Amino acid sequence: MIDTEIKPDYTGPPIKFECLQCGRCCRDILIDALGSLKGPYLSKEEAELFPPDTVSPSIGRGHDIDNITVTRYQINQAHCPHLIEDNQCQIYDKRPLVCRRFPLMWSSGKITNIAHGDDCKFISRKESELGYHLYFYFRKHQFVCPSCWVAHDKEMRLIKLHGIDTAMSRMNMYSYDLWHRRWNLIDEMLTS
Ligand code: SF4
Ligand code: SF4
Repeated sequence: MIDTEIKPDYTGPPIKFECLQCGRCCRDILIDALGSLKGPYLSKEEAELFPPDTVSPSIGRGHDIDNITVTRYQINQAHCPHLIEDNQCQIYDKRPLVCRRFPLMWSSGKITNIAHGDDCKFISRKESELGYHLYFYFRKHQFVCPSCWVAHDKEMRLIKLHGIDTAMSRMNMYSYDLWHRRWNLIDEMLTS
C-alpha cells in the first residue's frame, strides 16, 4: 500500500537508478500540459531522426500567430515510432536528450523532479519498496544516474538559452497543441 501524500523533499538514502528496459517511457508519451496535448520535445536535428509524419512543431516564436518560426518540435504519436521488439530503441545511440535524461524531469534551481511511478517501472518499483510516492525534489547525490544528469543539465541549459533568445528578440512564444492542431500564445495558456 502506497502513501499518496506528496513528500516535500526526499530524505532517504541515495537512489541508484537502473533502467529495467520495460519500454514504458516510450509508450503513451503524449501528456496534457495546461490543457494542450504535448509530446516529448525534440531539437531540429533530433526531429530529423523521426519519420516526418510522426513529428509536429512544438514551440515557436514570432511577432504574431501568422509569422511563427518553429524552434522546437515534438513527437506526435502515442507510442514512439522508434520502439521496436524487446523494448529496444532503434536509434539508441542517437536518441534525443529528452530520452537520455528520463526519468529526470525539468528542474527548478538545484533540485529536480523525477517521473511519476505510472510512467517509469523503476520508480514504481522503488515506491512500492518505500511505501510512498517519490514525485519531487531530488538533488544529484540523491538520485544516482550520471548519464541522466548530464543530459538533464544540457537540456536545462538549452531551455534557458531559448528563453533568453526569445526575450531578447521581443517576440511572443507559442506552443503547438496536438489536440486542436493549433498554436497558442504561451502567456494565454498560463492565464486561461
Ligand atoms: S527515441 Fe528511443 S528512447 Fe526515445 S522514446 Fe523513442 S524508442 Fe524510446
Ligand atoms: S520506464 Fe523507466 S525502467 Fe522502464 S525503460 Fe523507461 S526509464 Fe527504464
